[in-house]
Amino acid sequence: MRLDVISLAPEAFAPLQGLGVIGRAFAAGIAELHCHNPRDYALDRYRKVDDEPYGGGAGMVLKPEPIYAAFEAIPIKEKRRVLLMSPQGQPLRQDDLKRWATNYNQLVFLCGHYEGFDERIRPLADEEVSIGDFVLTGGELPAMVIINGVVRLLKGTVGTAASLEEESHSSLLLEHSHYTRPANFRGQEVPEVLRSGDHGAIARWRSQQQQARTKERRPDLYARWLKQDSEPTPDRQSQP
Ligand code: SAH
Repeated sequence: MRLDVISLAPEAFAPLQGLGVIGRAFAAGIAELHCHNPRDYALDRYRKVDDEPYGGGAGMVLKPEPIYAAFEAIPIKEKRRVLLMSPQGQPLRQDDLKRWATNYNQLVFLCGHYEGFDERIRPLADEEVSIGDFVLTGGELPAMVIINGVVRLLKGTVGTAASLEEESHSSLLLEHSHYTRPANFRGQEVPEVLRSGDHGAIARWRSQQQQARTKERRPDLYARWLKQDSEPTPDRQSQP
C-alpha cells in the first residue's frame, strides 16, 4: 500500500515509522509513506501557501496552486483513493478503513491547516473524511489516525486474522471483556465460565456480553446491529 500525504507539517508523520506494529509494517515494506510539502511547490519568492479570504473574515486559507502542484507531482497507481481531511466530511467508521485497505493500493491524504482549504481544492478528493465532531488545527492527526487504522488491517501487519475479525466495531458490536492471570486480583474474580474449559459456554457468554455492553455503552450501535440482524443482507442470505 502506497500512502501519500500532502501536508505543511510533514515532520509530524515521522513518529508513525517507529510506532510498534505500524512501524514494523513500514519497515517490512507492507506500506510505504511519502510526504509532500506544498511549500516546496509554491511559486512565489516567499513560498506563500496561504492567503486572506475573499470577502474578509478571520484566518488564512490554503491557496489552490501549491496544493495542486504537489498533488500532480505524485505518481499514480491504478487503484488510488484521495481523502481530504475535514471536520465537514463523513464521520470515519471501521467499515471505511476496511474498504480502503481492501480496495486500493494507494491512498492520498490532503491535510488542511489554518481556516481550511480554498473551496477549489475539494474537487481533487474522492471523499472528505472527519474523525469526529470536533475541530483540530490541522489534518495531520486525522491522517495519522486513518493510516494507523488502515495499515493494521493490511495482510502481515497484525498477527492473526481472528484478532481482527472479533474486535469492536468489526461487526457493529463492541468486544467482550478480557482477563488474564491471576484468577483473583484484589478480590476481583475472573468469571467462572472462562476457567471452565467449556468452549461452547465461553462463546455464549462472550456473545451475551458483547450485546449487553453495546446496549449499555452504545445504544446507537446496538440499534444498528438489531436492524442489520432483522434485515439480512444478500451476503448473509446466501449463507446456509
Ligand atoms: N474552518 C474549518 C476548519 C479548519 S481546521 C471548518 O470550519 O470546516 C483546519 C484543518 O484541520 C482542516 O482543513 C482539516 O484538514 C483538519 N481538521 C480539523 N478537524 C478535523 C476533523 N475533525 N476531522 C478531519 N480533519 C480535521
